[in-house]
Amino acid sequence: MAYPQDVSMPSGWEVRSVQYARFKDGSGAFTRWAVYVDGRPRGSEFGEQARAGQHARRLAEADAVDAVLEAAIGQEYHYGIRVWPEPVPGRALPTWRKTDPHLGLRDYAFAWYSADPPPVYAYTRVQYERACAALELGPAPDSGLGGYGDAYGDFSLAEYAPRDVITMTLRRRRIAGLEREQAAAAGRRRQQLRDAGLDKKACTREEFEQACAIMGVPPLPDGTCVAVTSEAFSRQYSGVFAVSSVGSLASDEIVRKLCFARATTLEHEADAAGHHCDECGVIITGAGLAASFGLACSPEHYADMADRPGWYATRSSRR
Ligand SMILES: [Zn+2]
Repeated sequence: MAYPQDVSMPSGWEVRSVQYARFKDGSGAFTRWAVYVDGRPRGSEFGEQARAGQHARRLAEADAVDAVLEAAIGQEYHYGIRVWPEPVPGRALPTWRKTDPHLGLRDYAFAWYSADPPPVYAYTRVQYERACAALELGPAPDSGLGGYGDAYGDFSLAEYAPRDVITMTLRRRRIAGLEREQAAAAGRRRQQLRDAGLDKKACTREEFEQACAIMGVPPLPDGTCVAVTSEAFSRQYSGVFAVSSVGSLASDEIVRKLCFARATTLEHEADAAGHHCDECGVIITGAGLAASFGLACSPEHYADMADRPGWYATRSSRR
């Protein structure tokens, strides 16, 4: 198998013009162009005939790519779904136990009847490399996946060449597989914590260090636990990959979980002690930055407080 070369428009495909009127009385007519397959529109419309023609060739190339993938991967690894071409009248859906290639767990599978089976969307490493080899595309290492482009890139056939779109699609399928494998590994590690009675939402320093020893991760200082937790929150809620010194720690689900439990206790303690930033009011876990004009949560708020005209200056300027 190889990457499909010079795919031409299949029979039954044509580029048709579509007439529109800008106004209700029919005036201001303009023309758009679209690909029609067996008389039905497919994909985007374009202002120029040449672009619609280019889009048709891209769609045909993408179909040829899918056919190569189907031959290379097929339904072999479809966890939980077995694709049967048509239902058997009068018979219930058969179920049977099957091993998930990502999780290594045996669970019930069910049948899916479809003439047009869904693509396998989560690849094992072996599947990913097999798919790349079938299309003569270079596979990325697992460690090179999951960057900004993988998370936010919008690769559509209207904008990108099929080769770029399929490269990105294969990366995303491997990322989906990786996520399943990582979730399973983290689940197995969490079970160890539960067995030790240390799977907690908030914990003392002693419990934290015991849990870290069981999980084989370094017992981070309290201040770092707080930093890891805020890094994880900013990633989750602002969608921003905050760049900080604890970035790589926050990527480890177990480290993040243990830090979160420790930071929760520190926050309760700071709240009870009335430890707040005098600039923004946030609870300060740890020492904070003490100055004659108050307590600051960060160097930024320390500087803000230092830069503001003090009580004496405001009083003098008002007079
Ligand atoms: Zn502050």
